[in-house]
Amino acid sequence: MNYDKSKALFQKAKQLMPGGVNSPVRAFRSIGMDPPFICRGNGARIYDEDGHEYIDYVCSWGPLILGHAYPAVVESIQQQAALGTSFGAVTRLEVDMTEMITQAVPSVEMIRMVNSGTEATMSAIRLARGYTGRDKVIKFVGCYHGHADALLIKAGSGAMTFGVPDSEGVSPAITSDTIVTAYNDAEALDHVFEQWGRDIAAVIFEPVAGNMGTVPPQMDFLREIEYLCGKYGSLMICDEVMTGFRVHYGGAQRLYGIKPDITTFGKIIGGGLPVGAYGGKKEIMRYVAPDGPVYQAGTLSGNPLAMAAGLTTLKILRDNPVIYQELERRSGLLESGIKRCVRLAGIPICVNRVGSMICLFFTDIDVKDYDTALTSNTRRYADYFKHMLEKGIYLPPSQFETFFVSAAHSDEDIQYTIEAISKAFNHLAD
Ligand code: PMP
Repeated sequence: MNYDKSKALFQKAKQLMPGGVNSPVRAFRSIGMDPPFICRGNGARIYDEDGHEYIDYVCSWGPLILGHAYPAVVESIQQQAALGTSFGAVTRLEVDMTEMITQAVPSVEMIRMVNSGTEATMSAIRLARGYTGRDKVIKFVGCYHGHADALLIKAGSGAMTFGVPDSEGVSPAITSDTIVTAYNDAEALDHVFEQWGRDIAAVIFEPVAGNMGTVPPQMDFLREIEYLCGKYGSLMICDEVMTGFRVHYGGAQRLYGIKPDITTFGKIIGGGLPVGAYGGKKEIMRYVAPDGPVYQAGTLSGNPLAMAAGLTTLKILRDNPVIYQELERRSGLLESGIKRCVRLAGIPICVNRVGSMICLFFTDIDVKDYDTALTSNTRRYADYFKHMLEKGIYLPPSQFETFFVSAAHSDEDIQYTIEAISKAFNHLAD
């Protein structure tokens, strides 16, 4: 395939941006090829500068649950843009948005809008510390909560791909209050609480881990987080930046029946525009300025364009529960199709899925945490990725990411994808 235009753009980009990108995984480093430059999206399809068409399973890393350029979303952005793009003042859109989220997710009684998932988790941690008067925070190995200093330790996503889970530039003083323990390991968590119990402000977790590939939670693990937080007076921060409105309209917490103290959001609630949010019990949220002593602010927070795109997306999801049924059915078709290909090809592969979040690992071990995810053969993944790209299928350019099915993916798209996977498996290097 000819990528001349993308290659020329990437040469120039590398002189202007670190790695030629504005977020590391876009550089395709773990794949070992230059990335195609994307210029357009429509439904389940994206198009690059060289004229190639792809079925897209990245979907902007999760926000585009309705697909690219969904007409009603585009229209709401256009209408709002004509009325003004930002005021730095209160708007009706924010009231409507926060009301929609609180109605969808009962544990969230009050909410603050911000501009990214990173801002949401960073602010949630500050709030938990301010509210409890404690400093320590527990996070799990391989869970990614954005790039705020205190949470950029044993993180997944790009940090995992590059094998540098701890970033330079993060001072040990800042991470010294972050305790890291294994995902899905209730017993290890017990030990941490035994040791530090009353110093722990919060446990932050991905209710479905999506940043070390996809790793479903074990119920006893979620229950233990809930139990220990209750016992020791620590706050349970459920990071639903990826899972919120994705695995269920009420998020993973509705799916698994857990009731966190604070929840963070991003991605889908912005309908493809930059957004984040954190919310929870009123008693806790009243600690946020100007009601309370925990300071947090933002010039573009509650941005009208993001609110308009997000509101339209959430309304469509709320009024059409069939979307979630269809996402489940189609993602199930994809999962069983992949498993069929695996059996035929005889390659060791573990397929993990929760709703429309899916991932396949090139390993014969059940992937349930970071260590087991690392058993995957990443060279094989890179090879597989390239075969799929050639067949017009755009997957996450890293083993340790989730791929997303959207409402725009048709049965035919899924069928075509399974056939492509089958062919790709037959050509994989050892
Ligand atoms: N939390 C989770 C669970 C995420 O998946 C991400 C991003 N993938 C973030 C936080 C950070 O969000 P953002 O990239 O918008 O800062």
